[in-house]
Amino acid sequence: MTRHAAAAIREDSNPFIFLSFLMFVRWTTYRCPHCRGAFRRDFWPYNVGLGSGERICGKCGKVFDDGAREWPELKLVKKLRFFLPPGMMVMSFSFLLLGIGMLVVAPRDEVSWLAVVIVLAGSLAPTVVWCLIRMLWVLRSIRRYENESASMRRGLETAGH
Ligand SMILES: [Zn+2]
Repeated sequence: MTRHAAAAIREDSNPFIFLSFLMFVRWTTYRCPHCRGAFRRDFWPYNVGLGSGERICGKCGKVFDDGAREWPELKLVKKLRFFLPPGMMVMSFSFLLLGIGMLVVAPRDEVSWLAVVIVLAGSLAPTVVWCLIRMLWVLRSIRRYENESASMRRGLETAGH
């Protein structure tokens, strides 16, 4: 793995900062450091990407570091952010508030413990599904990382003999 490859250029765009209702429309463009060709756009800041980090530019064919890291290389904060990025946190929280709101509004005699459990589980379901999908990504990343370090070890052994 070449960690000394040039790092990708990160460029924030927030064209509607003066229009309050569109203030949250913003994105980050990541560009190739050699030819400035855009290769990725993220709609929330500091998105955590899983991967070897090594990317070959589709335009100029040069290798650069796209900022992605494999799961075992990530710090705890980044691991948490991978599972619950800001956008997802806002969504989970609003679903939960919606669920609680429904229970508060519903007539008292209709609300049983079972209803509470069903509503809360229902409002948390999208978050759970999201986390399960993320889990698959993590498992794939761990496998990639282990394969890579295993082949690196093999490479060192053959070089030593
Ligand atoms: Zn390029």
